[in-house]
Amino acid sequence: MSSRNDQLFEQSQKVIPGGVNSPVRAFRSVGGTPRFFTKGLGARVWDADGKAYLDYVGSWGPLILGHADPDVVKAVQDTAALGLSFGAPTEMELVMAEKLAAMLPSMEKLRLVSSGTEATMSAIRLARGHTGRDLLIKFEGCYHGHADSLLVKAGSGLLTFGAPSSAGVPADTSRHTLVLDYNDIDQVNRVFAEKGNEIACVIVEAVAGNMNLIKPKAGFLEALRENCTKHGAVLIFDEVMTGFRVGAGCVQGLYGIQPDLTTLGKVIGGGLPVGAFGGRADIMDKLAPLGPVYQAGTLSGNPVAVAAGLKTLEKISVPGFFEALTAKTRRLVDGLSAAARDAGVLFSADSVGGMFGVYFRATPPTSYAEVMQSDKDAFNRFFHLMLLEGVYLAPSAFEAGFVSAAHSDADIDATIAAAARCFEKLAG
Ligand SMILES: *Cc1c(COP(=O)(O)O)cnc(C)c1O
Repeated sequence: MSSRNDQLFEQSQKVIPGGVNSPVRAFRSVGGTPRFFTKGLGARVWDADGKAYLDYVGSWGPLILGHADPDVVKAVQDTAALGLSFGAPTEMELVMAEKLAAMLPSMEKLRLVSSGTEATMSAIRLARGHTGRDLLIKFEGCYHGHADSLLVKAGSGLLTFGAPSSAGVPADTSRHTLVLDYNDIDQVNRVFAEKGNEIACVIVEAVAGNMNLIKPKAGFLEALRENCTKHGAVLIFDEVMTGFRVGAGCVQGLYGIQPDLTTLGKVIGGGLPVGAFGGRADIMDKLAPLGPVYQAGTLSGNPVAVAAGLKTLEKISVPGFFEALTAKTRRLVDGLSAAARDAGVLFSADSVGGMFGVYFRATPPTSYAEVMQSDKDAFNRFFHLMLLEGVYLAPSAFEAGFVSAAHSDADIDATIAAAARCFEKLAG
């Protein structure tokens, strides 16, 4: 018997490429039919067949307060009633900018945009405009949105330029991007020694979350900071995922490293489209209308989206918020690890603040190469077993997971118990 999810997916594929508006949603990596959601409340979502799931995706990170938080919904409703968009400045944008600058001391000035992609694309243009250099350094496995210069994978050798990782990206564009190995400090030092005066910027997920969760090794972020300072390159922390997800001061606060520019998204929109980029005032003042670097947006700083973001930031600023979220997320990964061990399944898990990674390998990975060695088939079986249990994990072995403030201790316990049953099946 065909489910409503199946029907909707079949129909969607006729008018939407792959049936989805963003590729990972299509379940290609895990197989099967994507769930079409009709409703979300707190830690739970409901699919088109009415089945409920405990949600550990949270719209890929933004929903740190859970679904349909009543205060956020009310802020959106109240603001929407006053007009949806003006294309002119509003006081709320100022309040939002002041709030972000107060929470992140490295952000002396900032601009609001409408997505993470826009934030990183703009930060890179600004870094290039500021330095008068073209060369960009990124790390294999880090994702920074889908701008041309960022859809690049490693070339054949260390100092050879990257190759496009998507059709439609001109080779000329990727020639300005060098792709290095995350957590390889020697490589960073060598590349800077050789090409330091050509490098406009380094962009990095300071805690990586788009190749599953990978933490920076001791000294890695420091090496980026030192090399950029020494060679006049702009250090960009892409905190679109980690911003106000790992802690109130983001990764830069946790690790005590100040980037020159930071990009934000996800949590700062509270589920609506908001991004931001900002940092050193002398760099930010190179933006139009003050400076020569062009950047704009019809809906930038949209009042309804900003209302959702501001209310979210307000609620996560309550003392103890991140301590509780961090402890809850840690309890989840410790419980999953113990359950896997009991069942004899090769598994490890890790977390930073409210984000976590599960790995079908003995220890948490420290590099892209290591994460790629995890047992993808085991993950895919686990994913589908958990789905049957009513637990919705990211539909790919290479994505991070997210816990929200709406997840109760009972929800975490239920998830661990469900996972224990799934690990038993995997082992058996
Ligand atoms: C999600 C993400 C982006 C892209 O943001 P969009 O809003 O999807 O354009 C960029 N960088 C990182 C680290 C992300 O996690």
